[in-house]
Amino acid sequence: MDDGLAGRVAGLMGRAWGDLAELVAIPSVADPRQQPVERCREAAEWVAAAFAEVGLRDVRLVETPDGSFAVLGHRPPPPGAPTVLLYCHYDVQPPLDDAAWVSPPFELTEREGRWFGRGAADCKGNVVMHLTALRALGDDLPVGVKLVVEGSEEQGTGGLEAYLAEHPDELHADALLICDTGNAAVGVPTATVSLRGMANVVVTVRTLESDLHSGMFGGPAPDALAALIRILDSLRDAHGGTRIEGLPADGSWEGVGYDEQQFRSDAGVLDGVGLTGSGTVADRLWARPAVTVLGIDCAPVVGSASAVPAEARARVSLRVPPGMDPEVAQRALTAHLVAAAPWGARVAVEPEAKGSPFRAATDGKAYAALDLAAREAYGRPLSFLGQGGSIPLCSALAAQYPESEIILMGVEEPRSLIHAPNESVDPGEIEHMALVEALFLRHYAAAGR
Ligand SMILES: [Zn+2]
Repeated sequence: MDDGLAGRVAGLMGRAWGDLAELVAIPSVADPRQQPVERCREAAEWVAAAFAEVGLRDVRLVETPDGSFAVLGHRPPPPGAPTVLLYCHYDVQPPLDDAAWVSPPFELTEREGRWFGRGAADCKGNVVMHLTALRALGDDLPVGVKLVVEGSEEQGTGGLEAYLAEHPDELHADALLICDTGNAAVGVPTATVSLRGMANVVVTVRTLESDLHSGMFGGPAPDALAALIRILDSLRDAHGGTRIEGLPADGSWEGVGYDEQQFRSDAGVLDGVGLTGSGTVADRLWARPAVTVLGIDCAPVVGSASAVPAEARARVSLRVPPGMDPEVAQRALTAHLVAAAPWGARVAVEPEAKGSPFRAATDGKAYAALDLAAREAYGRPLSFLGQGGSIPLCSALAAQYPESEIILMGVEEPRSLIHAPNESVDPGEIEHMALVEALFLRHYAAAGR
């Protein structure tokens, strides 16, 4: 299979630690209220310099319409060879609760064989995976490469999607490696082939001209918060499964399942607390709509008065499985909320963000090459997984380049606890996935255009 490629990747792991330590030390949270914009700029420049050094040309920062910077670069294909887009992002989630971190979030720290730090997996671990794969191949790069490293993925401000709309040809490639996910478990090579979309709304309930003294008026006075609670409760059946009038609730998942005990442990479900809904865990996660109340505006406990509230509102999020149109889902959710109002309470529903779900076609040359690479690097075939979250860029790329194969992979496996305190990466995953990537580029080139 390889002329020492695996050995070269293994020999680059010291370098990978050094790179990841430098990159994690830059707190590139793309929110100016939390970190100065210079931090993101610094991370972008670090990324640009690193990819220029591995031989990409014309590496540059471009400003995207949300004011963040994406790093672009490329290397033209050898004659007749395909081109592969390599995607990742350099911005990170905020550390959240500093006190919950065992070691400082912006200082890469090794513990029990894992490397801890904010962004160590999501997505700076994938930046380093790309760098390691390209370094291992050196000048022997058999495909054309386009690079895009996004600067505001975690903020949902859509910078790169807007840039793509303005520069429709710039990210085009035969295969797109969207490296912002990971394996089903350490050691199990996995492509994520299904992503849920979403449809959010804000629902406001009004019942009174103003708040009333609960002693003088409570009882007959219609309570806006009580009305909102009834409305929100109507979104679930007796088992806690999502029930939205007009939306199917019985989809089933056909890829790798998700063991219930494993799910309980990954999600940290407390002992004795049941899971909600029915069907398999994978059905509920990846094949059916799922509602969550993200926030409620009403009086907080501290500072509340003896009053019947006149108004209450909630932000409601619906995760939408592949095959369901988020526009249709948002309209169904809106109609359901309005129809569920008790006592003639006045209900207004404002639509918010929407994102399309995504399903990859897995029968092309790129998936075949990836499966071969997985067998060589891990000694087992490629598995397919769904993911509950959305990657809006994925849907935008799929719509823009319907002929291109899209592969979601990377180093973010469940133990990485991405977005949570004590995020970490398994260095073995960086090593093996970098090898998968390097082998993939070779096998894909060999398959021809
Ligand atoms: Zn990410």
